[in-house]
Amino acid sequence: MNGMEPTTELEILAAPILEELPWAAFSACRDADPELFFGGTKEQTEKALAICRSCAVRRECLDHALEVRERFGIWGGMTESERRKLLRQIVA
Ligand code: SF4
Repeated sequence: MNGMEPTTELEILAAPILEELPWAAFSACRDADPELFFGGTKEQTEKALAICRSCAVRRECLDHALEVRERFGIWGGMTESERRKLLRQIVA
């Protein structure tokens, strides 16, 4: 978004998300198929992780996912099980 009022359907739907997570405007996945990040097949996961590797806000995304304990999907270049393992290590 450009600081103006949202006009397209996508901008209207994305507005609340971008208000809460402003870094998401710079995400490499903003135009990607969400199914890649939540589908769960090996092929989908590999494609999603490849997108994350090129993402400029990977750290912000991972911080958010860990902070709110996102249970599902790929966030910050990590799968659900990788985040669970990391959280166990951090808490231990
Ligand atoms: S790190 Fe991955 S899931 Fe997070 S915003 Fe970037 S591309 Fe999307």
